[in-house]
Amino acid sequence: MIIPLNYDTIISKLRESGLTLFEIEDKIKNKMEQLSGLISKEGAAHIIANEAGVKVFEDVGEIKIKDARNGMRNANVNGKLIVNFGVREFKNEKRAGKVGSFVIGDETGTIRVVLWDVQHINSMENLHDNDIIRVENGYIKENNGYKEIHLNNFSKFSLNPEGITIEDVKFNGVSEFKCKEIKELQQNDRVAIRGTIVQLFEPRFYEICGECGRKAVIENGSFKCGQHGNINTKFAYVVNCILDDGSESIRVACFRENACRLIGVSEGELLSVREDPGRFEGLKDSILGKQIKVEGRANKNLMFDRLEFIASNIEELKPEELLQEME
Ligand SMILES: [Zn+2]
Repeated sequence: MIIPLNYDTIISKLRESGLTLFEIEDKIKNKMEQLSGLISKEGAAHIIANEAGVKVFEDVGEIKIKDARNGMRNANVNGKLIVNFGVREFKNEKRAGKVGSFVIGDETGTIRVVLWDVQHINSMENLHDNDIIRVENGYIKENNGYKEIHLNNFSKFSLNPEGITIEDVKFNGVSEFKCKEIKELQQNDRVAIRGTIVQLFEPRFYEICGECGRKAVIENGSFKCGQHGNINTKFAYVVNCILDDGSESIRVACFRENACRLIGVSEGELLSVREDPGRFEGLKDSILGKQIKVEGRANKNLMFDRLEFIASNIEELKPEELLQEME
């Protein structure tokens, strides 16, 4: 179990590193002033320790997602794949490269996993819905007020390891994400947006491998899975809607459980629409005009050259939240 060190312990660690008490207190005071009092003495001590390369967290080992804390090192986490954000290229003054990311969840919450190692990124090709992912020796970082687990080339990343199961994933409240207006959205933003559902498209169904959930491909008239060969298929689905927040509107893609959340039906009910499309018309009326908060990622649709939003979680806005916002 992990214990972030408390103030006094950080101070004594800093003193062991060669600083005098006077120097340490001075640095802490300066840091607090520099950040205009936005952080506590303890927070400032953490930053000073980080800057001095002094470890303020013990190596953590096995943790549940809700226990992840900024600055933890060597954390091991298991989770089920919730949404895959894929790989993108980046370039800044310092370097260029690729970064991959996805969200996993366990019984206590969800967290974004960020991959920087080329081998890890390459193995993302094998990811599919509901995969169990184990990461070892990750470090926890806070980004825009929410936590991420980052993996470097000393970390380990394994897919569907023996003996690990995760039943019900607990979704974090969408409110943990920073909210943005739709017109302010930039490509790859991971934020929450709020708005009214002004248009709803019929569910699209597609065949997946009954065994592993990967998208099935048709070969010589029968369905195949890259891993399982000839297969029995199941159906997965996506529902798109248009969300409008008054600043602009955007297409939101809701896959699987998010499609169910959007429409407020069970998986079985949604699947029944495939055989009886008329049922969807009935559902539609209750959904148009609904106000929701969606957490996810802004994604550039290259074919249409427009931004779309991929939902990783959806919540209906409660009247009291709407009131709060109006005030
Ligand atoms: Zn398969």
